[in-house]
Amino acid sequence: MPTGLDILRTWGLPVFDGSPFIIAGPCSAESRQQILETALALQGLPVSLFRAGLWKPRTRPGGFEGVGETALSWLQEAREKTGLRLAVEIATPRQVELALQAKIDVLWIGARTSGNPFAVKELAQALAGIDQPVLVKNPLSPDLNLWIGTMERLLNAGVRKLGVILRGFGHSAPSKWRYEPEWNLGVGLRNHFPDLPYICDPSHIAGKAELIPQICQQALDLDFHGLMIETHCNPAAALSDPDQQLTPSQLADLLSRLVFKHLSAPTDETRKLLASFRLEIDNLDEELLRVLARRQQLVAQIGELKREQGLTILQAERWRQVLAKAQASGQELGLSPSLVADIFNRIHEESLSRQQ
Ligand code: PEP
Ligand code: MN
Repeated sequence: MPTGLDILRTWGLPVFDGSPFIIAGPCSAESRQQILETALALQGLPVSLFRAGLWKPRTRPGGFEGVGETALSWLQEAREKTGLRLAVEIATPRQVELALQAKIDVLWIGARTSGNPFAVKELAQALAGIDQPVLVKNPLSPDLNLWIGTMERLLNAGVRKLGVILRGFGHSAPSKWRYEPEWNLGVGLRNHFPDLPYICDPSHIAGKAELIPQICQQALDLDFHGLMIETHCNPAAALSDPDQQLTPSQLADLLSRLVFKHLSAPTDETRKLLASFRLEIDNLDEELLRVLARRQQLVAQIGELKREQGLTILQAERWRQVLAKAQASGQELGLSPSLVADIFNRIHEESLSRQQ
């Protein structure tokens, strides 16, 4: 069975030995100079596609909406000078037409478009029978069926070279991520369409440059074939997504540190099993954190009550009982009393300091 990397290779795209498929380039094309400077700095890295957004879907009006088709000639010049193939986001049939006229090598459908069945239907018609690969980002809402439906509409229209990009999902609960990765939805889509290239976009998931490496490694451990990483010659001056773009040299450093075991993992079965264990552990860790946060909220409420009623903060006897009970329950679950004491004493210490 060909892997996602084999498929990308049969599409005629460069795939570097021992490396994931890397798509790099700025969030938005801003100027000829920015495009050329960034593309030239990516030369020599195992980058398969140079990305740039021309038409930017902004959450609120007033943001930078991209320079539009003007940038097509800058991209072509970057391709001539560096040999890098090009990828752009398309959201309307007109944008498809312009991108195809400019011989853009790969097109992608963004998260705001892929969740809109009307837009996808129109795009599917415009893309029917084209030879260029089309990569589909997940819709913003964590709805597996919506994503599956978008893939089906494109496949039914005869888009033959189809790939997937996980870029994270909208959420309302507080999170360290800009968009929640929801790895399980990526796994769900892969169960449905097992034989496609799967790419992760850590930039939009992380939202902050410093959080990008851990998302990249997690994606590779979950057997993603590639990464789309926003890269800008001067991120601080970027007109969109300035906090999440890497410089080309930060990208080089990141790529040299990533562990890509795709070729050396013992068997497919073992890799899948490991990935599903890790997924479960990640979910449990999240659950642990939520429980801990909930406990802290209650402690704060108790603190408030004690203050109002003039009670002492530390009620030593109560704490001895809590700890003894936890150690007994822990032992029944196979956890050593010393581990339980360490964890609970640390939590207690934190609670006391918050009540003071
Ligand atoms: C982008 O890649 O810059 C972009 C707009 O992505 P998304 O559609 O995932 O928000
Ligand atoms: Mn972006």
